[in-house]
Amino acid sequence: MPDSLGFLDAVGGLPEQLADAHRSARDALDGISLPSAQDIDNVAVLGMGGSGIAGDVLAAVANATLPVPVVVLKQIRTPRFIGPRTLAFAVSYSGDTDETLRMAAGALDAGARVVAVSRGGELESMARAPAASLPALTIAFELRTASLLGYRPRLDACANCGNPLSPERLFSPARGGLVCDGCAAEGGTVRLSADALAGLSLLLSRPVGEAGEYLEVKRSGEILRVVEAFLKHQFQRFQGLKSLELLRSLAPETPELVA
Ligand SMILES: [Zn+2]
Repeated sequence: MPDSLGFLDAVGGLPEQLADAHRSARDALDGISLPSAQDIDNVAVLGMGGSGIAGDVLAAVANATLPVPVVVLKQIRTPRFIGPRTLAFAVSYSGDTDETLRMAAGALDAGARVVAVSRGGELESMARAPAASLPALTIAFELRTASLLGYRPRLDACANCGNPLSPERLFSPARGGLVCDGCAAEGGTVRLSADALAGLSLLLSRPVGEAGEYLEVKRSGEILRVVEAFLKHQFQRFQGLKSLELLRSLAPETPELVA
């Protein structure tokens, strides 16, 4: 059988490819400090498809010699063992693989050190974002995931009946968005400030990676309250986001219940 794709040569060149990759990785890590072995309990590689295979190779090569386990995760949810003593590598060539972005956001939320390996996309935006913008990014990721699953908060007309919205900016976590005066009379709504509503609209329409640029921490607290109340209603098992304790403390104790 003819080897029209030059497969044999490619396989034969594997040692050179590995040496090349090793050199590139060294150059990329130049000037970056990774935590020392005493400071971590595990290494997690977050990646789907071919990016996940990079993790499989690392685990196969390193498990016999590394003092901590290497775990490859090809899923959406972040396991409970991921925490501040985890060194995580989020790998996505495009930088836009949803599962990987979701796991990276979860790992950041759990306090893990996350190294992004990517050519660009939202994973790169996330990696380059200043620490102060991480709360905004986390909220944006949560909303995006909810939208992908078909739970996008409705802001253009009453989320319950489709009628024109109440001018009071009344948000119903249970109905899944803003509501009209008639549906608001049934109770359970939160009055949004004009600022919070503007922020929420931006979160839903702009790329996730830019969230830190337009969402200020001081007005994130109110949005966080509403988004978490919304997610709790849509997803029974939603637990809230650990990294956002600070924002929670900036928001009023309880959302202003109108009715
Ligand atoms: Zn209505």
